[in-house]
Amino acid sequence: MKMKIALIAHDSKKDSLVEFAIAYKEILQQHDLYATGTTGRRIIEEAGLSVTCFRSGPLGGDQQMGAMIANNDMDMVFFFRDPLTAQPHEPDCTALIRLCDVYNIPLATNMGTAEILLKGLQEGFVDWRLIQERKSN
Ligand code: PGA
Repeated sequence: MKMKIALIAHDSKKDSLVEFAIAYKEILQQHDLYATGTTGRRIIEEAGLSVTCFRSGPLGGDQQMGAMIANNDMDMVFFFRDPLTAQPHEPDCTALIRLCDVYNIPLATNMGTAEILLKGLQEGFVDWRLIQERKSN
């Protein structure tokens, strides 16, 4: 099942997300990838993956992701956030995480969870989407 996957990383976590994308390129390339602007461009250039890029996070990219989630149009979110640095768009980051919880979208905010989530995806653990679909029908 082809999934829509969001990739977002704050500046200090971009190297980690790029490494993650390179390591799991084989799995990620089977899905539709979306990213905030700067993160997306790095993943395209350094991991060689095809990614639809939104605006940069601080310029509204997180809200564009949020809109997709609200439209039931995003299946999984990898959001490597920096827990040690204040972000100018903190409200947008919080809103994105909140929407994932509203719509039961699997969300990884660090590498540890990301790896498990991706392996679950690889194994086809997508029942949460079926439950979600049943609820919206
Ligand atoms: P960026 O945005 O990928 O454009 O840097 C990420 C964010 O800070 O939300």
